[in-house]
Amino acid sequence: MEHFNLIVIGSGPAGRRAAVQAAKLGKSVLVVENRLRLGGVSVHTGTIPSKTLRETVLNLSGWRERGFYGLSYRVKKDIEGKDLGARLRMTLNHEIEVLEHQFNRNGVRTFGGMARFIDQNHIAVVAPDGDETRFGFDHAVIAVGTAPYRPANIPFNDHSVLDSDSLVSEPRVPRSLTVVGAGVIGIEYATIFSALDVPVTIVEPKDTILDFIDREIIEEFTHDLRQRGVTLRLGTKVEKVEIDEQGWAVSILADGRRIRTDMLLYAAGRSGATANLGLENAGITPVDRGRLKVDPVTFQTEVRNIYAAGDVIGWPSLASTSMEQGRIAALHACGAPMPPAPEFFPYGIYAVPEISTVGLTEQQVRAQNIPYEAGIARFRETSRGHIMGLQSGMMKMIFALDTRKLLGVHIVGEGATELIHIGQAVLNLGGTLDYFVENAFNYPTLAEAYKIAALDAWNRMPRTTPIAEVMEEPEIEITRRKARAGKAGA
Ligand SMILES: Cc1cc2nc3c(=O)[nH]c(=O)nc-3n(C[C@H](O)[C@H](O)[C@H](O)COP(=O)(O)OP(=O)(O)OC[C@H]3O[C@@H](n4cnc5c(N)ncnc54)[C@H](O)[C@@H]3O)c2cc1C
Repeated sequence: MEHFNLIVIGSGPAGRRAAVQAAKLGKSVLVVENRLRLGGVSVHTGTIPSKTLRETVLNLSGWRERGFYGLSYRVKKDIEGKDLGARLRMTLNHEIEVLEHQFNRNGVRTFGGMARFIDQNHIAVVAPDGDETRFGFDHAVIAVGTAPYRPANIPFNDHSVLDSDSLVSEPRVPRSLTVVGAGVIGIEYATIFSALDVPVTIVEPKDTILDFIDREIIEEFTHDLRQRGVTLRLGTKVEKVEIDEQGWAVSILADGRRIRTDMLLYAAGRSGATANLGLENAGITPVDRGRLKVDPVTFQTEVRNIYAAGDVIGWPSLASTSMEQGRIAALHACGAPMPPAPEFFPYGIYAVPEISTVGLTEQQVRAQNIPYEAGIARFRETSRGHIMGLQSGMMKMIFALDTRKLLGVHIVGEGATELIHIGQAVLNLGGTLDYFVENAFNYPTLAEAYKIAALDAWNRMPRTTPIAEVMEEPEIEITRRKARAGKAGA
């Protein structure tokens, strides 16, 4: 039986990063993957396909140019499923090739099949042809991710009633769409299809959507959606779904209403893919919906030589954070020093328009009783926004009143998921409002919104309290003075 220092189960972002990190530290590494090709949910059905569909839709529909040329402007008149599928396949193949090359370069071995634990140091892998092979390990990383939750009362047929996996396998443009669940995935697809002028209805049992995002940003976002004709049915749930004679999906809601659409996307949650992993043989017990509990610093499960990382451990369930978790797990397993995890990570929602956020929301700042001031910038206030014909988009920044430190940045609008990284850098480096006020930004850019929002907050910050003393000599000035003094001395 072959033995490895590290066996990784799953080749998504968490597994990939764990494997490469351990290989770079000179360890023997095996990755087991049950799909035909590497990449995980991220490459095959999640992050990359959904973002490729989004980009294709925005390009072919001419969405970004409609501010100038009107709502009826199109780059391609009739956009069909095959237009979406073609670009999807090209992108996916490229992503997989990059990954396979990365594994080859780093000497990571791969094995195709479904892995399950035999005990705390051995797994068995059943290949697609039914053959079973056993491997031994010192350490293992469980990076099996999640699968869409498919309740029994929903008649999935993968044509008119789909989940987010089947939606991308043969993409088509429906005549109308119901989206069940206003989580990140549901909202992303609802707005992508709405950008193609497909009438969309979103059904969500809660009265609110995306509760972890700053409320002012969500108000702006939902206003934008309603302007575009997206129907939000909040505070009611889908009791039953039927497929009628025409093959359309009929949703019967708890409040008695019926919604009939060409397609229904069920996006109400995902479950950890741990059901067939033989966790009981290793002494690991899953918690809520197949998810695993880990030490938040080391990512060890209750069995100390077995780690778990990525979506299988729950929030935030992002490709970006999964990669970091995988890397940290591998460093710990290899006995290598682990850098401290940054306090704040960005969250990106690739809806149309995009939302991105880092740090504390206004609601969290209030709950923690931190005295604060907030500043707002609208993209249409920037020259770049005018040039691009942007009608909407806003940035909100929150600063602590006593220290002037940046506490959070929240953006909705074009380029939000890229722009957020400026705020992330300042936040994680402990920067203050002064950075934005005193530094020059490229002109014309949407990044200028940072300066506008910071000045907006600054305008409302008190000048006559002890804060004024802080303002007399901001930290940045002290640093500069010290630097000047140093130079003079030299
Ligand atoms: C529609 C959608 C859109 C998304 N968009 C974004 C986004 O824009 N940005 C972002 O950061 N994140 C996004 N995500 C989330 C992102 O895809 C996940 O966070 C990420 O894929 C999780 O990575 P992972 O390594 O945990 O596992 P996964 O990517 O889920 O991969 C796990 C792999 O393990 C395999 N596996 C499972 N069990 C076994 C077994 N027993 N033996 C062998 N192999 C097994 C699975 O088949 C799978 O291939 C999106 C997700 C979805 C569904």
